[in-house]
Amino acid sequence: MSDAAAPPTGPAPAGTSLNRARRERELAALAGGEVVDLLVVGLGVTGAGVALDAASRGLTVAAIDAHDLAFGTSRWSSKLVHGGLRYLASGRVGVAFASMRERRVLLETVAPHLVRPLPMLLPGDGRRALLTGAGLRGAEVLSRAAGTRRATLPAPRRIGPAEARLLVPALRDTGEGAWLSWDGQLVDDARLVVALARTAAGLGARILTRCRAVTVAADGALVHDTVADAPVRLRARAVVNAAGVWAGGLVDGITLRPSRGSHVVLPASALGDPRGALTVPIGGSMSRYAFALPQPGGLVYLGITDEPVEGPVPDVPEPTETEIGFLLDVLNSALDTPVRRDQVLGAYAGLRPLLDDGRHSGADLSRRHAVLTSPSGVVTIVGGKLTTYRAMAADAVDTAVKVRTLAAGPSRTASLPLVGAGPVPPGAPPRLVARYGSEAAEVLACGDPEPVADGVPVSPAELRWGVLHEGALDVDDLLDRRTRVGLVPSRRAMAEPAARAALRP
Ligand SMILES: Cc1cc2nc3c(=O)[nH]c(=O)nc-3n(C[C@H](O)[C@H](O)[C@H](O)COP(=O)(O)OP(=O)(O)OC[C@H]3O[C@@H](n4cnc5c(N)ncnc54)[C@H](O)[C@@H]3O)c2cc1C
Repeated sequence: MSDAAAPPTGPAPAGTSLNRARRERELAALAGGEVVDLLVVGLGVTGAGVALDAASRGLTVAAIDAHDLAFGTSRWSSKLVHGGLRYLASGRVGVAFASMRERRVLLETVAPHLVRPLPMLLPGDGRRALLTGAGLRGAEVLSRAAGTRRATLPAPRRIGPAEARLLVPALRDTGEGAWLSWDGQLVDDARLVVALARTAAGLGARILTRCRAVTVAADGALVHDTVADAPVRLRARAVVNAAGVWAGGLVDGITLRPSRGSHVVLPASALGDPRGALTVPIGGSMSRYAFALPQPGGLVYLGITDEPVEGPVPDVPEPTETEIGFLLDVLNSALDTPVRRDQVLGAYAGLRPLLDDGRHSGADLSRRHAVLTSPSGVVTIVGGKLTTYRAMAADAVDTAVKVRTLAAGPSRTASLPLVGAGPVPPGAPPRLVARYGSEAAEVLACGDPEPVADGVPVSPAELRWGVLHEGALDVDDLLDRRTRVGLVPSRRAMAEPAARAALRP
């Protein structure tokens, strides 16, 4: 197996390769008493963002996850890098502006290879169209104020029924027009996390999966290495708890009120292979919507629900049959030909890490992120959005630097492109370019580029790349996080033998 210094295949940028050998070497050094400036607990988008922010300021960093990169909520999102139109509608101009600024930074500088403009359709005439138009025009003013160029995201405009049905052919023919607006869409949320972690690794951060923090303190953590089934003590000058919906289990005084959001995975053909997203009001509401979001690989994700969750937090939440039925009903209210339950290819659910600050409740909670320092000196970063991970990470590192008196300058990540953000190699297959950006040719060089089976959009080359350079340690890492074939169980079963083959030394 390769290590970071000498990858056997493909010139991944120096030091950005993650793999089993590097994990073992770095974990051994830390277990041997090496002290880092910052230990980050959790490698979702927030923790990976914190690791990168700190490493790019020159701090020495170790970042651990109990399972894998993007194991938690970060892989179950709607994959939107959104401008926060809903926040604007409820008067939270500051939150919407921050989202729009982060959306621009991701689209234009940090991850242009992973985020693209998504046309979004909001059908309807009359009062709804008037109100929608007013909201979209306000959002447009704010988006330009946040520095977004028209070449990045076009201005919203009113379109007629024929153009609307060109974008979403299955849309019911009511003769009504629609608003067309644009937002950011990630090719895959887990890929953003992997890119953040590898970019941090390139700056020297130790990225260690399968390491569960058992107890944390301001000067380190007692960790269980689940590969070796052994305890390890990690020493640090500061600790950031970015364990998402599990963060409250590690420090006192933090209570989360998780809320489950579920999506249904549909064949794109059921909606006439849409080129844009369809927004459908829930029960005639002016503020709650379901979204049908076109995806690579001939899929549409339909979301989203909002169900409070009581009791122990599961590792992998499951959508209920009621949620699946509800989402289909909302979608079908806008279609000529209803999508049937037997057309559903898969479903997934994630838990929003909503912070109970004792002052806000319900939907309010999700709009906020908080940086909290426990009496023991551990800094916790929780809440917020995937879209705003970068600003959240900068806040958390600022706090850790201050509370623990570390020597570091201001955040640099707004101008730091992630691995893969460089120029695209000529002739690389578009599907690989969409997922790997400038690294597409190196991925291709890792093995057979053909799909592992008919209709299963993953190749042996990508699986091998995942093992050599992206820290995948087992079949689940490969199928459920480095690639997302796992979202369609029938495709996952067909890809399993190739994943097992990719893991052989
Ligand atoms: C259904 C849904 C849809 C969403 N859609 C969007 C969207 O479209 N756009 C958007 O901007 N936001 C969206 N969000 C919000 C966004 O997904 C989350 O805010 C974000 O992913 C949270 O990331 P995180 O890193 O804080 O948590 P997580 O991704 O959950 O990461 C926490 C990590 O900590 C690890 N961990 C836990 N305990 C320990 C321990 N003891 N030791 C070590 N590691 C540990 C876990 O394994 C996990 O990997 C959505 C949320 C949901 C639920």
